[in-house]
Amino acid sequence: MNTESEIARAARHLLADARAVSKPETAAMPLSRPTAVATGARSPANDAAGRGMAQPQSAADLEGLRAFVRQLRTSDLKLPAALRPLSSVGATLSPAAGMLDIDAVRSDFPILQERVHGKPLAWLDNAATTQKPQAVIDAITHFYAHDNSNIHRGAHTLAARATDAYEHARQTIQQFIGASSPDEIVFVRGCTEGINLLANILAPGLRRGDEIVLTELEHHANIVPWQMVAERTGAVIRVAPLDDRGDVILEAYERLLGPLTRVVSLSHASNSLGTILPVELMTAMAKSRGARVVIDGAQSVSHFPVDVRRIGCDFYVFSGHKIFGPTGIGAVYMTREAQESLPPWQGGGNMIQAVTFAHTTYSGPPAKFEAGTPNIADAIGLGAALDYVTRLGRERIAVYEHELLEYATGKLMAIDGLRLVGTAREKVGVLSFVLPGHDTIEVGRMLDRAGIAVRAGHHCAQPSLRRYGLEATVRPSLAFYNTRAEVDRLAEVVSSLARG
Ligand code: PMP
Repeated sequence: MNTESEIARAARHLLADARAVSKPETAAMPLSRPTAVATGARSPANDAAGRGMAQPQSAADLEGLRAFVRQLRTSDLKLPAALRPLSSVGATLSPAAGMLDIDAVRSDFPILQERVHGKPLAWLDNAATTQKPQAVIDAITHFYAHDNSNIHRGAHTLAARATDAYEHARQTIQQFIGASSPDEIVFVRGCTEGINLLANILAPGLRRGDEIVLTELEHHANIVPWQMVAERTGAVIRVAPLDDRGDVILEAYERLLGPLTRVVSLSHASNSLGTILPVELMTAMAKSRGARVVIDGAQSVSHFPVDVRRIGCDFYVFSGHKIFGPTGIGAVYMTREAQESLPPWQGGGNMIQAVTFAHTTYSGPPAKFEAGTPNIADAIGLGAALDYVTRLGRERIAVYEHELLEYATGKLMAIDGLRLVGTAREKVGVLSFVLPGHDTIEVGRMLDRAGIAVRAGHHCAQPSLRRYGLEATVRPSLAFYNTRAEVDRLAEVVSSLARG
């Protein structure tokens, strides 16, 4: 099999699709994917398919893709709309789409009325966790006050109500991220558990020398589970590097992809640098090599619209608590094909059809991947959070946050000596910085005394900071309930520290 020409053919499809969708009259068309080639010949691809791994897709002009990637890097050429991170789609919306009424939004979040050290709380630690609107608090309270029961079992009214509410939440997630069926959504404890689930079910398909591709900006949750699997299987981890701004170097990424690439796992947005990765393009590149693609959506779903089918990934993972929902709940999107070809991870109740001491048959997905009693109340709380975000409007959120990020970037850059780390072309509202002569923890404490909550440390993404010679940064991170006034308070404290 000529792998080079396979890649090239996929690239041509990709470029043709990109051109088609960037025409105004077809701008809403989904990016179509090249279809898989099924040949009987023995090849790394068919070998991989036999182990539950994906097959390479057709492909013809590798140079086309390389040239495209080179162009992207060396000019101000904008990605075609279909390949652009969705934040930019939001950022170009017309004002006719309506503005957020921030005062009204803030009054939905009881905790924003708190005072800390006598000052109004400014919650600028949204990349670590987000605050909860009353609608989420009410949904959880209502469940425990009126509907509490285990699900799927017990022929009584509360079991039926609890099951309906839990399954309704699954459907809400499906619609929120554009999956084709609620069955493609698996509930987990959060993003970390989701990636561990995926690493463990993909592990049996990995052999010595197979490759797992990550990027330098990954959170530890998207590094350590793969390392554990690599140790077990003999697979090798390869890492796509970052440039000085915090963008992934796409030519280097492209060079890492090869016939042994089995899994590519990428953050949609970085929690330490804010970079939004062009995941559609990167997924298409990985799929053209036959790899399975995991997207870590922990820092993206709450900031801009996400459509998993448009991205074309096999898996998408996120945590409820980072999108205004409860802790202890999250979701994994898995394509039907992946769910059917991969084994379960944890065993127990709910995930079986029939058990004898000799043999167990498993339930179909998603139950196959949800052993034991799930976190029912928080799944319902997560559904309420997504409904809340949908009511606000994700495009509106993206526009508002984009403007606030630009404002905050200007304010911080104006402070003498402050070094902003992570200035990628497309960013979520993460502003990592260091102030020479001041320990990051000390800066965090000074801000806390002023009622401003930010994170100081390595943000569980040590490699991404070491790339810039740092062990820690101060990291304010924004959400739609933050205001320019809060950013001004932040800048004032940091400026006074900088002045000494
Ligand atoms: N990935 C990214 C990019 C994150 O920011 C985080 C949380 N900081 C995680 C994964 C892990 O999420 P959780 O701790 O909710 O499992």
